[in-house]
Amino acid sequence: MLIIMKPGASEEQINYVISFIKNKGFDSHISKGEINTVIGAVGGKIIDKRDVELLDGVQEVIKITSNYKLASRTFKNEDTVIKIRDTEIGGESLCLIAGPCTVESLEQMEAIAEKLSSLGVRFMRGGAYKPRTSPYSFQGLGEEGLKILKHISDKYNMVTVSEVMEISQIPLMLKYVDILQVGARNMQNFNLLRELGNIDKPVLIKRGLSATIEEWLMSAEYIMAGRNPNVILCERGIRTFENATRNTLDISAIPVIKGISHLPIIVDPSHGTGLRDKVAPMSRAAIAAGADGIMVEVHHEPDKALCDGAQSLYPHQFEKLIKDLKIIAPVVGKKV
Ligand code: PEP
Ligand code: MN
Repeated sequence: MLIIMKPGASEEQINYVISFIKNKGFDSHISKGEINTVIGAVGGKIIDKRDVELLDGVQEVIKITSNYKLASRTFKNEDTVIKIRDTEIGGESLCLIAGPCTVESLEQMEAIAEKLSSLGVRFMRGGAYKPRTSPYSFQGLGEEGLKILKHISDKYNMVTVSEVMEISQIPLMLKYVDILQVGARNMQNFNLLRELGNIDKPVLIKRGLSATIEEWLMSAEYIMAGRNPNVILCERGIRTFENATRNTLDISAIPVIKGISHLPIIVDPSHGTGLRDKVAPMSRAAIAAGADGIMVEVHHEPDKALCDGAQSLYPHQFEKLIKDLKIIAPVVGKKV
C-alpha cells in the first residue's frame, strides 16, 4: 500500500500515519519528494484503505496487493490445469460442456448423451437442484436427477457438472457428480463456498449477476483458502440496462481474468444471452478471446424442455459450432 501525504503535511501527521499502520502490523518506508511525502506500507495483512484515507494529512492511498492471493497470478504464474479422469480443463484442449438446463428423465438424458458423445463431447451438464426465480417453476428432480447423471457418466464415460445449492446437498453431490457448480445466485454464499473448500472435487463457480471480477475472484479464493485448489471460473453474463439479451455476456472478462488469475475460465453463452440464435456467435467470440471452454445448453427437443428451451441448441447446431471452434482454436493456441 502506498500512502501519499498532502503537500505540506506536518511531521506530526506523518508520524501519526506511521504509528497507525504499525499498529496494524505494517512496516513503513518513507520517501520524501519535493512536493509529497510517500509512505510505503508493507508486511501487514488486511487493512481497510478507507481508514487510512481518513487520517489527517493523507491525500491518497493506493493499494498494491489484491484482496485475493491463491487465485492470483502474482501468487502462481503458470495456468492451472485441472485433471478429471482422462480429461483436462485449462490445458490445450478446449473444455466443451453441453447438456440440458435440467435433468428431466432418464430417456431425455440418454437421448442427449448419445448425441453428445457421438460428437466427442466429454463433459455433460444437467441441473438436479434448480435455482428458479419463481417458486412455482420446475425445481429439479433432486437425488433422482443425480442418479441419472451418474448412470450417464458411467455408461458414456462422461464427466458430469451439476449445481449444488446448499451445504446439505454436498454429500449427495459428491456421490454422484464429478464437478460441483455454484450458480450465479450463490456466488457470494460464503458458508457454501467455505464448505466447498473442504472437498476433493473441482468446483465451477459462476459469476454473480452483479458481481465485479474482483468479487468473483474473492469468491474463488474462499474455496481455495480451504484445501481445494481446483476452481473453474464461468462467465455467464451480468445484469446491465440492456434487455435485448437475457444478460450481457462480458467477453472482456476473459482477457482480464487471464491477466490476473491462473484459474481456468469458461463461458456460458446460453444464460449469457438467453437466445438460441445468439449462442454460437458468442461461443466463437469466447474462444477467440481466450476462454478455456464453453458450457452450452443442448437439448434433443428444446421445444419440449422443462427449463430454458429457448436458449438450448439443437444437437445439429452444437455439431456445427464444434466444427467452427476447430477452426478458431488454433489461432489462440488451443485445440478441440
Ligand atoms: C445453470 O447453469 O443451470 C444456471 C442456473 O445458471 P446461472 O447460475 O448462471 O443462472
Ligand atoms: Mn438453464
